[in-house]
Amino acid sequence: MVKVRIDPRDNCISDGVCIALCPDVFEWGDDGKSAIVAQFRVNDNIAEGNVPDDLKDCVKQAADSCPVQIIHVEE
Ligand code: SF4
Repeated sequence: MVKVRIDPRDNCISDGVCIALCPDVFEWGDDGKSAIVAQFRVNDNIAEGNVPDDLKDCVKQAADSCPVQIIHVEE
């Protein structure tokens, strides 16, 4: 299991890079910013998730590619 946070989520510039790279984990929130998909959310928090190991690589790729560096991954 990998922990992922979008923090500070307010800083998301909605370019969609994380969603393009890792659509199993990231989706658009109602406010037009990136959110963790419902399936992997912790306590219904759209900015925090626990993701299975097989999605680790794409989550890391999304974190590395986020232009504002707000995606954080903890193994
Ligand atoms: S890559 Fe970063 S800035 Fe772009 S949509 Fe995802 S969280 Fe937002």
